[in-house]
Amino acid sequence: MSRRLVVIGGDAAGGSAASQARKRSPDLDVVVFERGRATSYSACGIPYWISGAVESEADLIARTPEQHRAMGIDVRIRTEVVGIDLDRRVVHWRDLAEGGSGVEPFDDLVYATGSVPMRPPVPGIDATGVHGVQTLDDGAALRAALDGDVSRVVVVGGGYIGLEIAEACRIRGLDVTVVDMSATPVGTFDPDVGEFIADAVRKEGIDLVLSDAVAAIETDAAGRVRAVVTASGRELHADLVVLGLGVRPAVRLAEEAGIPLGTSGGVAVDARMRTQAEGVWAAGDCVESVHRLSGQRMVVALGTHANKQGRVAGINIGGGYATFPGVIGTAITRMCDLEAARTGLSTAEAEAAGYEFVTAVVDSTTKAGYFPGAQPIRLKMIAERRSGRLLGAQVVGREAAAKRVDALAICIWNEMGVDEILSLDLSYAPPFAPVWDPVLIAARKAFEAVEADVRLL
Ligand SMILES: Cc1cc2nc3c(=O)[nH]c(=O)nc-3n(C[C@H](O)[C@H](O)[C@H](O)COP(=O)(O)OP(=O)(O)OC[C@H]3O[C@@H](n4cnc5c(N)ncnc54)[C@H](O)[C@@H]3O)c2cc1C
Repeated sequence: MSRRLVVIGGDAAGGSAASQARKRSPDLDVVVFERGRATSYSACGIPYWISGAVESEADLIARTPEQHRAMGIDVRIRTEVVGIDLDRRVVHWRDLAEGGSGVEPFDDLVYATGSVPMRPPVPGIDATGVHGVQTLDDGAALRAALDGDVSRVVVVGGGYIGLEIAEACRIRGLDVTVVDMSATPVGTFDPDVGEFIADAVRKEGIDLVLSDAVAAIETDAAGRVRAVVTASGRELHADLVVLGLGVRPAVRLAEEAGIPLGTSGGVAVDARMRTQAEGVWAAGDCVESVHRLSGQRMVVALGTHANKQGRVAGINIGGGYATFPGVIGTAITRMCDLEAARTGLSTAEAEAAGYEFVTAVVDSTTKAGYFPGAQPIRLKMIAERRSGRLLGAQVVGREAAAKRVDALAICIWNEMGVDEILSLDLSYAPPFAPVWDPVLIAARKAFEAVEADVRLL
């Protein structure tokens, strides 16, 4: 009898693991259980589908169940795994469409259940009109609701997903307010970069209520959302509320089965994506990763990692050898026409990791200052005291500003110092950059800060 791989979760991590394993080991039986109706979809594209920039739901689906089946993968959509029995080596499943149930044996198991959106425990949170945006089904429900009689939307949470959804609602012509507990939106950026983001968001006509939290959601007599009440007592009228408060790893089934979790709450895995249970692998938002700079184990819910980790698990299951090397905190987003990106550690993260550091902030332009369309860009660097090693960078600006972060991610990955970065052979022509690219100016300023600091020692 052939070996059997069972995969729980048919999106980024699970889909990648299944297709890699099957590609490398064509005799392997592969069964994928997916609770939703779609496989291998881009949750990242949901805000752009809601805004209308992406035309149809089908555009967001990289591989349909039929396409997986054509590769010899037995995909069972609308089927939820409700238990894992490691001793008997079976999973228990329930058919959400027809109502049946059963067991499926496995030799190898990939746990790729993703994450669960945070829901604040406030009165009214389950009211009609409160939406999450975690899965394609959530996106479809939100889009359908926005097509109805909605004119005021409150987004709870000013992280990158919250702001992307706020922008999408604004593009649809709605009044939008974003509520966030931090003093600046997208709390993973330093406040001096976050301020830039806050200004740009306000200029687009989105109201930001900062340093405040949601205390209750008020409903009308029919149980529909009417208003959001904040801790400071503000009453924000709303026909619809979107939750964008972040996520936690979906580990309930793993915990119940006795698959060990790590210190951060995600499933503990080694570099080959093996859990501590024999023949059980895990990948994606449900696992913890190692941060290469801080050494900390953390859950980083990003599609870029989920795809890579799923691929690594699949290669190993299929008889090859691959490892996931860890993360350095690179992320990018666009809010309205403002782009923002970060890599490495923020100042708060560097402090928490015990680094001593200096910072440099540069305000420059995206192209040569005289070139038509040149736009402001702010670039911040965080360099280790004495050694000058680049620890982190944040970029915010318009049109092609943010992708500069990738060059800096490579510098951090390779443990380069700001003294090396300041004379890197980066590309230059007036339509693309000033003759001194903001990356080079920021590195020079950071190097000067390192030198000045050494002189004071
Ligand atoms: C609105 C939005 C925007 C985003 N934008 C970006 C971005 O720009 N860049 C980026 O890198 N990341 C982005 N992300 C994050 C990215 O989408 C996730 O990190 C990625 O989808 C994680 O993949 P995953 O396979 O681990 O989990 P998921 O994509 O969540 O897939 C898990 C799947 O498992 C299924 N499942 C769970 N439990 C069971 C069960 N018991 N039985 C059967 N099936 C089950 C779920 O239905 C789900 O389809 C965004 C996310 C959202 C929601």
